[in-house]
Amino acid sequence: MIELSGVNKHFGELHVLQDIDLTVGRGEVVVVIGPSGSGKSTLCRAINRLEPIESGTITIDGRPLPAEGKGLARLRAEVGMVFQSFNLFAHKTVLENVTLAQLKVRKRAKDEAETRGRVLLERVGLLAHADKYPAQLSGGQQQRVAIARALAMDPKALLFDEPTSALDPEMITEVLDVMRSLAAEGMTMVVVTHEMGFARASANRVVFMADGRIVEDRAPEEFFARPESERARDFLSKIL
Ligand code: ADP
Ligand code: MG
Repeated sequence: MIELSGVNKHFGELHVLQDIDLTVGRGEVVVVIGPSGSGKSTLCRAINRLEPIESGTITIDGRPLPAEGKGLARLRAEVGMVFQSFNLFAHKTVLENVTLAQLKVRKRAKDEAETRGRVLLERVGLLAHADKYPAQLSGGQQQRVAIARALAMDPKALLFDEPTSALDPEMITEVLDVMRSLAAEGMTMVVVTHEMGFARASANRVVFMADGRIVEDRAPEEFFARPESERARDFLSKIL
């Protein structure tokens, strides 16, 4: 579903993505971990071209990601993204947040978009809050709206960049529960997270990044039991 081959990117002198090869099969859940600054967010952003790359190829469902233009907007809609900071529209209601892109990008009629929006709000447990504004919700609720908004585009894959890092501990579970159920239903997901419980329970593979490189790419049970690299051992000793 997602394939990166020989992807490179610099920020000035910093070689932030170095020869990245990564394949995420349909229905696979890949958890990306690694120290701060290792390039995890840049990798996510590169996958839907929020960040240009210098060399290599990225294909989504067999189609190369164009650098710009209409094709880009369409392909970007195929890969939803959920950020640490929710990024909801503050002056739109919850329901409007989950319908706007359906109208603009998917060109759905308003009725259809609202119906779909309500189904998705129900699914993340927030239908009762449809007419509220984001500021009236808790962080965990806002993040669940953000997931519903991403799902409203009927994406082929979802990228999550530290979706629970900005949340108070008691709200992390409600967001992870939604993510676990998506994984169980076969959604293709790339998840940057420090939630190792989620990685153990839901990931097909764990990708460990350090200094812009993929250092390990293995099944979670193998990775956690026997990390091969010194970098990964060191990282795990600090977070577990
Ligand atoms: P991670 O998500 O693993 O913490 P990032 O992908 O955010 O890492 O960042 C990787 C490196 O790239 C860091 O050193 C960061 O400071 C740098 N970086 C990220 N975005 C930019 C940018 N827009 N301009 C310059 N440097 C950046
Ligand atoms: Mg990051």
